[in-house]
Amino acid sequence: MASANTYDVAIAGAGPAGTSAAIQLAMKGARVLLIEEKKFPRAKLCGEFISPECLTHFKRLGVMHQMSAAGGASLSETIFYSRRGSSLAVPSEWFKSGTNALGLSRSEMDHQLLERAKNVGVAVLEEAQASLLVRQGEEVCGIHVKTGDVTRDYEALVTIDATGRTRALARHLDRPRANRRKNIKPLVAFKAHLENARVAAGACEIYFYKRGYGGLSGVEGGVSNLCFIVAANDVRRCGSDPELVRREIVMKNSRAAYTLADARARSPWLSVSLESFGRRTLVPARG
Ligand SMILES: Cc1cc2nc3c(=O)[nH]c(=O)nc-3n(C[C@H](O)[C@H](O)[C@H](O)COP(=O)(O)OP(=O)(O)OC[C@H]3O[C@@H](n4cnc5c(N)ncnc54)[C@H](O)[C@@H]3O)c2cc1C
Repeated sequence: MASANTYDVAIAGAGPAGTSAAIQLAMKGARVLLIEEKKFPRAKLCGEFISPECLTHFKRLGVMHQMSAAGGASLSETIFYSRRGSSLAVPSEWFKSGTNALGLSRSEMDHQLLERAKNVGVAVLEEAQASLLVRQGEEVCGIHVKTGDVTRDYEALVTIDATGRTRALARHLDRPRANRRKNIKPLVAFKAHLENARVAAGACEIYFYKRGYGGLSGVEGGVSNLCFIVAANDVRRCGSDPELVRREIVMKNSRAAYTLADARARSPWLSVSLESFGRRTLVPARG
């Protein structure tokens, strides 16, 4: 007989992958546990550009109304700017006829998805860290969860690691060398919400500069999201100060120099280092 700690599916990570899987499984009648280490809503480093194809998924997940009502920016085109200001515009319609892209913070988007998961009956643990897989021999049969000082095992027929780049659980199953990915010169990504940015209405603007690129577009609340990637060496040269990186590197792009001239951060800067790109090798295991 199933105990209170036993589920059909246990999912670690409540980003878009984890919540989407949880919602779809719960809508089909599965008993689902979703474990997230942060308390939502929470800010997340991201360009916050939701491409038109995603709206089909929002409809399927039953969150289209919530996403539309969240006050995001409707983005009809993406304009790419070279360093000297030449530009090329790509209409959002090219990706889905009659549909614009959406500028919406990850704080809001992920929060709405998590609320939907709760509403369709997913058991959600926030501020709970999935620390290890529960295993019986070669078989995975659940997740070991830490909440403050308390640890507890949750059993499930199927366990899913949706912890994003962290791969908090899957990395314990890695075969040696299975997940060596093509290394890149280390990069650092930054993001913040800005006020007074002069981004063109309805556009996501992409700026190229030496050893990196960045994107600027509107989100809800009348602010713009600026997210950029730069070489780690350049970040060190700027004393790891995001404002200095913005001025000394990103604003070397002539369009960015114009749009960001009077912009001020309205949120704390977030940063993450990016050591590699590419698709991971799957590390399947029973359960
Ligand atoms: C610089 C940059 C810009 C990007 N811009 C865009 C963009 O504009 N548009 C776009 O569509 N995509 C963008 N992406 C890609 C996008 O961020 C990812 O595709 C997306 O976040 C992946 O979703 P996910 O659910 O797999 O993982 P994540 O969104 O990373 O979610 C993982 C979740 O797991 C939680 N977690 C981690 N470890 C644990 C643990 N041990 N226990 C419990 N919970 C845990 C985390 O707190 C998090 O909530 C960007 C990525 C980067 C790096």
